[in-house]
Amino acid sequence: MIITIRSQVSSEERDQLMELLSQVTGRQRRTITTVIDEREVIVLDDSQIDAQASTAIKQQNAVERVVQVKTQYKLVSKVFKAERSSIMVGDTTGSQPVTIGGSAVAPVVIAGPCAVENREQLLTTAQAVKAAGAQILRGGAFKPRTSPYQFQGLGIEGLQLLREARQLTGLPVITEVMEPDMVETVAEYADILQIGSRNMQNFPLLFAVGRNRFHHPVMLKRGLSATIEEWLLAAEYIVAAGNPKVILCERGIRSFDPQTRNLLDLACVPILHELTHLPVIVDPSHGTGRRELVPTMSRAGIAAGADGLILEVHPDPNNALCDGRQSITPEQLQSIVYETQVMNQVFEGTTNRAWVA
Ligand code: PEP
Ligand code: MN
Repeated sequence: MIITIRSQVSSEERDQLMELLSQVTGRQRRTITTVIDEREVIVLDDSQIDAQASTAIKQQNAVERVVQVKTQYKLVSKVFKAERSSIMVGDTTGSQPVTIGGSAVAPVVIAGPCAVENREQLLTTAQAVKAAGAQILRGGAFKPRTSPYQFQGLGIEGLQLLREARQLTGLPVITEVMEPDMVETVAEYADILQIGSRNMQNFPLLFAVGRNRFHHPVMLKRGLSATIEEWLLAAEYIVAAGNPKVILCERGIRSFDPQTRNLLDLACVPILHELTHLPVIVDPSHGTGRRELVPTMSRAGIAAGADGLILEVHPDPNNALCDGRQSITPEQLQSIVYETQVMNQVFEGTTNRAWVA
């Protein structure tokens, strides 16, 4: 249940509502108070609340509107907000603003190296990304690596280089943050905070990005073997913490077949568009692990209705310090950007663009 509070509410009216809610919700259930579109809302799991209690809540003076959402995730649900969310990126850092999501917005391409390796590699790639027509630069400064012996990223130095790349190209920047205590530092440099697959259910981290003081959007990657519902509940943590600007990223899930690094679950794209108003980005790089599959799966992602792609690009993929096998060249990126634009034009205004709600 999502209760929107009247804007002119008195403290007595609010207290009365809170008293009623504490009576009708059991001790195991929590109510969360947050602000959505500048309105105070109270969210609670109402699965155990009977019709009589529901009516009593609706009749409270403090209440403007009550929306009942049956799923466990509430704020990210389409039942709460029917229209697709559009998320503005890079409007506060002096970079070129970009909009992600919404039914009338063309898909965006985010591209860059898996890891920031050095100044020359990043700046060369950033210029190539810009020249190819991609709109956002990616680059990992803090890398969550499976083995402790692998390159872990340049850390703060990597963030400084990303800032320099943004100044040089005007492209907004996305980079991963791995721990709650680093959120504010990373947010000083980034335009979008990335939560990696391995951290999708790191709840203190989700809370921290939900509270980041710059109000930067968050791209939440799907966990290595997360269900869609677990993923949406992870997104709900960020929104409930006060940040509605969440972008979901499908990056493939664990499968039994070693032909690809992961199994890119493109069916999740139309499913998500049915369940949530949040934008959905597809990552064919991690989703396949193989450079030669990336152009085809990029087209497939756009055809499935993705609001954009995130692609790993390297000027010399075979010598990349991280994920070289799945990194495309700047030339390949250029043709993917072109194909994305063509596909968008083909689908625009036609019934084939089935994802437009
Ligand atoms: C990455 O984007 O480089 C990355 C580590 O991705 P994931 O969390 O999806 O593995
Ligand atoms: Mn990578």
